[in-house]
Amino acid sequence: MKKNSFSRRSFFSNGVLGVTGAMVASTFEGLAHSMEATPKSSSPADLKITDVKCGFIRGEHSLFVKIYTNQDIVGHGQGVDGVYGTYYVVGHIAKRHLIGTNPLNVNRLQEEIRRGGLFKGAQAGMYVCVMTALETALWDLAGKALGLPVYQLLGGKFRDKIRVYCDTAGSRLDPDEMGRRAKEDVDKYGFTAVKFDIDDRGDPNKLDAYNWSVSIPELERMENQIAAVREAVGPHIDICVDCHGRFDEVSGMKIAKALEPYNLMWLEEPVPAEVPESYARIRQSTTTPICGGENWYLTHGFRHPLEIGAVDVIMPDLQKCGGLGEGLRIANMSNTYNVPFAPHMVASYLGAMSSAHVCAAVPNFLILEWQIYFHENKMYEEIVNYDGPMLTDDGHIPLRDVPGIGVEINEEAMRKYAVPDVPFFE
Ligand SMILES: [Mg+2]
Repeated sequence: MKKNSFSRRSFFSNGVLGVTGAMVASTFEGLAHSMEATPKSSSPADLKITDVKCGFIRGEHSLFVKIYTNQDIVGHGQGVDGVYGTYYVVGHIAKRHLIGTNPLNVNRLQEEIRRGGLFKGAQAGMYVCVMTALETALWDLAGKALGLPVYQLLGGKFRDKIRVYCDTAGSRLDPDEMGRRAKEDVDKYGFTAVKFDIDDRGDPNKLDAYNWSVSIPELERMENQIAAVREAVGPHIDICVDCHGRFDEVSGMKIAKALEPYNLMWLEEPVPAEVPESYARIRQSTTTPICGGENWYLTHGFRHPLEIGAVDVIMPDLQKCGGLGEGLRIANMSNTYNVPFAPHMVASYLGAMSSAHVCAAVPNFLILEWQIYFHENKMYEEIVNYDGPMLTDDGHIPLRDVPGIGVEINEEAMRKYAVPDVPFFE
């Protein structure tokens, strides 16, 4: 095994950084540390992918992949949402595009997977979600092979910690309980921003089980809930509200108008993602900021919404939009439209930390989603290995200067949650 001879002392004494002051030294200290700490088993030029395996948990909602190499490093990645039943898709992409290749050309491999799938659904959905998990694992491999954290491979960091908001869901909570939970998010965990759902398919005041229209009592219930949240957290905590695309355009306008007094950070997906023009018209009708993007895919899928001014805030899901490099491209494109970047995240600690690397590497990052289930369900700590903490006491993910993503799948712990009758890392 070849030992990394690039010592931290030599890094700072060779004159490259020595004269540029404390701020620069601090920025690069993590880089030096991670390079120093990483064993290099052989030359990255000889690195080859030898196998790809996967497992599913959470009713197949979460796909975890591991990419194996001819050296002693393994890449880890996660995909969500459109990953149901994709065991054979993982195998197909692995055989066709990955096994036998050098994983360090991450963007080229991602583009080959995408182009190879143009007649297999590579525009959106399942194929892209699987590609996302694999692309993430390639970045993890590249970081481990080169001894660098992924954010460094993405161009370096703008910030050392990533602000998150806590999604507490709860559309069926009565207003007092929603307010109490909002306050708990802030007081107990230190979050500076919270999110609640207000669409409720089971609301007895819905006019109809199938139409998309909000009723007056339904609208009153929503307003009462968010008024209680604002009352509970005070004026300085950010509040996001999610509709999951369950309303028609005029209902979206009514909801946005009704929530104007509560100074939301955003109203999320008031209408289905398929019609970005509706987003743009709702946005023009209200002072409530409009957010969308968790059901748009690839940089291509964000171009038109940005061109027509559909959203105030963009929220690609970095476990389904095409990958971490794709997230970087989406963020940079939205930056040219003066639109902030606030990724959606419904994954595990692996997904959260993967997302954090992209959030670190773009100027227009606003906030990243975090889930209350991390605090309520021990499974999430069991299924990964990481060197904590995942969260600071003021509601941020601290970046860690370890090679790759910095969170790995704990295959044995995950096994007890595996989806039955689906091969698990076989
Ligand atoms: Mg949402």
